[in-house]
Amino acid sequence: MTRYTLLVAAALLFPLSAGAQGYISRMLNHPVPGGVAVVPLGDSSQMPRAYHDDNRVMVLRDSDGQWIAVVGIDLKTTAGRQVLKVDGAPGVQQPAFVVGSKSYKEQHIKLKNKSQVNPDPEQTRRYEREYKEQIAAYASFREVIPSNVMLDKPVDGRLSSPFGLRRFFNGEERNAHSGLDFAVGLGTPIKAPADGVVTIVADYFFNGKTVFVDHGQGFITMYCHLSSFQVKAGDTVTRGQSIGKVGATGRATGPHLHWNVSLNNARVDPAIFINAFKP
Ligand SMILES: [Zn+2]
Repeated sequence: MTRYTLLVAAALLFPLSAGAQGYISRMLNHPVPGGVAVVPLGDSSQMPRAYHDDNRVMVLRDSDGQWIAVVGIDLKTTAGRQVLKVDGAPGVQQPAFVVGSKSYKEQHIKLKNKSQVNPDPEQTRRYEREYKEQIAAYASFREVIPSNVMLDKPVDGRLSSPFGLRRFFNGEERNAHSGLDFAVGLGTPIKAPADGVVTIVADYFFNGKTVFVDHGQGFITMYCHLSSFQVKAGDTVTRGQSIGKVGATGRATGPHLHWNVSLNNARVDPAIFINAFKP
């Protein structure tokens, strides 16, 4: 391959929004529903603040010296132009990005425990309470720059169910798969993929034993179906620290790790952050 064809191949692999040239832009910019948009915000001396749909958005300085907004795009977002609100970015008018389209596959799952498909009223009340708690944790925005945005895999294992799968439990469609599954054995240690603060340690109806880690600036990760915990709420964890062990608690057909990644309160494809994204 000539140097020219290599450059062309690189340009096709990493379509950039105008002006964003740095490492984080190249790695994370996949503007589709369930993906991430990296939007350049200029190079002012002060860090700008950015908002999308009234949620604060992560802002970092990329390797080329520019400020960038790293925006999580909710899976339900339709294709088209989206605008950010920005404070403190002189010369940057209405930063925008264009969301492309992506089609996600279907998955059909048979569950013997029918209450996990159609919970009874008491179970529904329990689930609703637990859901509120998790939504509040995802909405948190701490003024701390994440230690790293390219993440380590929390477990070393094969990727199984991808993010975004449209799921049918016993033939009934439920929410799309909000995370990425790893096929790993019972008891496998789960490692924090970046520094953070543990915000939830709980045993939930659907998610089973669950840990939330807040990495700063609205960058939140969640680990489900654990067999045991090695942290408690309020703990500070460092990258690589063990937070718990893989299990099959909650709505799970066998031991595996379900991993969510959230930015600005939007669940996005974790594969993007471990350089395993498939367009
Ligand atoms: Zn899962």
